[in-house]
Amino acid sequence: MRVEVDLAVCENHGQCVFAAPEVFAFDDDERLTYVAEPAAELSTAVRAAAASCPVRAITLVEG
Ligand code: SF4
Repeated sequence: MRVEVDLAVCENHGQCVFAAPEVFAFDDDERLTYVAEPAAELSTAVRAAAASCPVRAITLVEG
């Protein structure tokens, strides 16, 4: 699975960080950072993170 976040759409709500802290985080400037190719065992948490994003900024590319 590959993770893509449209940072132009992201409004730093942080739900993704709460749902999958191993993959999503805020840097020192409060900007979202993320692991683009998370480990397979994190896929459930990543899907929950994508579903929780209120502005649908997270796209998952399966495979
Ligand atoms: S939940 Fe969506 S809007 Fe909030 S930080 Fe994550 S990607 Fe950005």
